Amino acid sequence: MNKNLKAQINRVIENKNQKVFIANWKMNKKFSDISEYAKTFNKLLKADPVLKVYHPLIGVAPTMLGILPTTGLMKNNVVTVCQHVHYEKNGAITGQVSYDMIHEYNINYVLIGHSETREMLNVTDRQVNLTIKTLLANNMVPVLCIGESIKQYDNNESMDVITSQLTQDLMDVSSEQILNVIIAYEPIWAIGSGKSADEKFISNMTKHIRKTLKGLYDEKVAKKVRVLYGGSVKPTNAAGILKINGVDGALIGGAGLNPNDFYNIINQHPEYLEIKAIISKK
Ligand code: PEP
Repeated sequence: MNKNLKAQINRVIENKNQKVFIANWKMNKKFSDISEYAKTFNKLLKADPVLKVYHPLIGVAPTMLGILPTTGLMKNNVVTVCQHVHYEKNGAITGQVSYDMIHEYNINYVLIGHSETREMLNVTDRQVNLTIKTLLANNMVPVLCIGESIKQYDNNESMDVITSQLTQDLMDVSSEQILNVIIAYEPIWAIGSGKSADEKFISNMTKHIRKTLKGLYDEKVAKKVRVLYGGSVKPTNAAGILKINGVDGALIGGAGLNPNDFYNIINQHPEYLEIKAIISKK
């Protein structure tokens, strides 16, 4: 790449947080599905000239059984993200997999406190906090999921719920460590509903999250921590959501099951589009 082009690209991303796109596959995809997905997704990413010079963090979160095949099949620096781990290293805990067991396979990104694990596996804020601290102590990256229920939203409690989750989940996480945490704001009422929260609401909530981080840490931390939005992000609404100031990417469920849809979300980020325009002018 020539110097001038590099300088133009750098101007687009300098002083900005690295963008993050994670597809959460939940309890979907057997080996053959993962293999099909990887074939298509690898091709799309490999053929994309923008992604040769622009490097958002792209991850997919398969089931525990899918972790190894996914890691083997995905190319182009796509990271494998674990959907849930236990904070104990080992022990008499039937049905769980420990952070140490996935770390052994070099899996470093983990979703923590997804609303489905909070609801269905009764994961508490205390457990979320213990898991986050354990992961950070082992140089792993927690993707902390927070979000309010429809009842809390209807009662205008959204901001209070988020303040409380952040305060409890990040207790005793230092200002150096917090920079390795990715926060995903996912209003539970928008997840899987087909309809995302509206852009104004996401914008206000993102500001509120950063204000809370400023209170817990400082202004620099509040700016630098990556904050994602999740909840019915799809190719048809991604452009508007990804434009919101302070939103550093997306956690994607349903649309992330299809490699074309996932790719068509990533390629609508304003940074991606700016770099695409620069490249096509050269
Ligand atoms: C999720 O469960 O993390 C999620 C964002 O799902 P969906 O995109 O399907 O709403």
